[in-house]
Amino acid sequence: MSESLATVSYLGATILFILCLGGLSNPETSRRGNLYGIVGMTIAVLATVLGPRVGNAGYAWIIGAMVIGGSIGVYAARTVQMTQMPELVALMHSMVGLAAMLVGFANYVDPSASANMSGAEKAIHEVEIYIGIFIGAVTFSGSVIAFGKLSGKISGNPLLLPARHWINLAGLLVVIYFGREFLHAHTINDGMTALVVMTVIALLFGIHMVMAIGGADMPVVVSMLNSYSGWAAAATGFMLSNDLLIVTGALVGSSGAILSYIMCAAMNRHFISVIAGGFGTTGGAPAAAGSGTEPAGEVVAISAAETAELLREAKNVIIVPGYGMAVAQAQHTVYEITRLLREKGVNVRFGIHPVAGRMPGHMNVLLAEAKVPYDIVLEMDELNDDFPQTDVAMIIGANDIVNPGAQDDPNSPIAGMPVLEVWKAKTSIVMKRSMASGYAGVDNPLFYKDNNRMLFGDAKKMLDETLVALKS
Ligand code: NDP
Repeated sequence: MSESLATVSYLGATILFILCLGGLSNPETSRRGNLYGIVGMTIAVLATVLGPRVGNAGYAWIIGAMVIGGSIGVYAARTVQMTQMPELVALMHSMVGLAAMLVGFANYVDPSASANMSGAEKAIHEVEIYIGIFIGAVTFSGSVIAFGKLSGKISGNPLLLPARHWINLAGLLVVIYFGREFLHAHTINDGMTALVVMTVIALLFGIHMVMAIGGADMPVVVSMLNSYSGWAAAATGFMLSNDLLIVTGALVGSSGAILSYIMCAAMNRHFISVIAGGFGTTGGAPAAAGSGTEPAGEVVAISAAETAELLREAKNVIIVPGYGMAVAQAQHTVYEITRLLREKGVNVRFGIHPVAGRMPGHMNVLLAEAKVPYDIVLEMDELNDDFPQTDVAMIIGANDIVNPGAQDDPNSPIAGMPVLEVWKAKTSIVMKRSMASGYAGVDNPLFYKDNNRMLFGDAKKMLDETLVALKS
């Protein structure tokens, strides 16, 4: 493929990626957006592989790598559970970081990469390598820790080292010092020492940064690492002089940054204070599935039949799904119940909290999969004022996002986070298996309110029983 045809293909792929992002911003156009992304990526890969920069000798390597990588990808996509999706995404981000690191080292030791460079051009190339490896290393180690936290392999408690900000600052100064050494190195061996020291510090920095973040702040970390992976890809693009990779990386980096901003707004937090870590300090570890804690008051339990009775008598119902709905895979039964109630003239709507579940948009994806109409799936802000006119608020496997302590208790680890005010409904029904806390590890005063009822059990099983009772 000629240079000009490859450039035109890259341009086409870039446009398709932008259309893809545009499409993904709305559930109704997301399938089309996804398709644009797939076509764009196919064009990008073909234009790169068949492009002028890959010689015949490279094909065996590329095809071999694609077969191995593709097989792992297909296997992971087929076997991963919906609830494991957030940690899989974190793992994917770590791969982008690792790739940026490896490309940086390969680029530095490859004499042909900078053979014709001298003076300012060579210095810029080396700065690209240094920064690219730094971003890649932070993304890699940070994402591995995020994977551990999201999968419950590492405690959600923030690790707060004494003088942690000073440690970070000292690390940054050392990185700058070795950056100078790197640029002034006369041989590859000299430069390599600086590069390795910086990489080790960057890896430790990534670990320290994510370890210091408490459970409740994880949504921001997930979107932030998403953004970093984009910048790592853009840095790789600079190192390889690949325009498409630069543009694609910048698209991912900036959209991830916007998502981080949205997540911060959703949690009423400042980005800097999230990065500084420590939010949720008193909260404890994320609740292990099914783990129970001592109740801090009296709760009133009800049965599925009584739930069906309350729903049958209701005129307005708001359903609030959370992480437990994903665990139980209850979305299809939720849809069946919704359909039945709507046929009976009940006004059923869904209230989606921006950080519900374990990844941005988690609940929207599940509800779309179950074919719940988009027009009854509303954002928290769109219906939070409607709870006082609501007969039944049905909370399915949600916990932190409906915790009144966020408003009432200034000492709560999630104080200030906007929540769905389900307790203002005539009756709220919480479906969960036990009294265990949610991801932030905080007790929930909602459970003990007079107008609250607890429907204990697996959400799918309980909803199946409710559906049967509704039909009878
Ligand atoms: P929570 O983690 O607060 O609560 C989920 C609840 O679901 C648990 O209390 C659990 O209780 C219940 N549950 C689990 N399995 C089942 C089941 N099979 N059937 C019924 N119930 C079940 O989830 P929320 O969605 O309310 O809040 C999200 C939390 O996750 C927030 O703290 C947010 O900050 C954090 N987070 C969000 C991310 C995002 O991007 N959206 C990323 C990372 C973290 P029990 O064990 O008793 O059943």
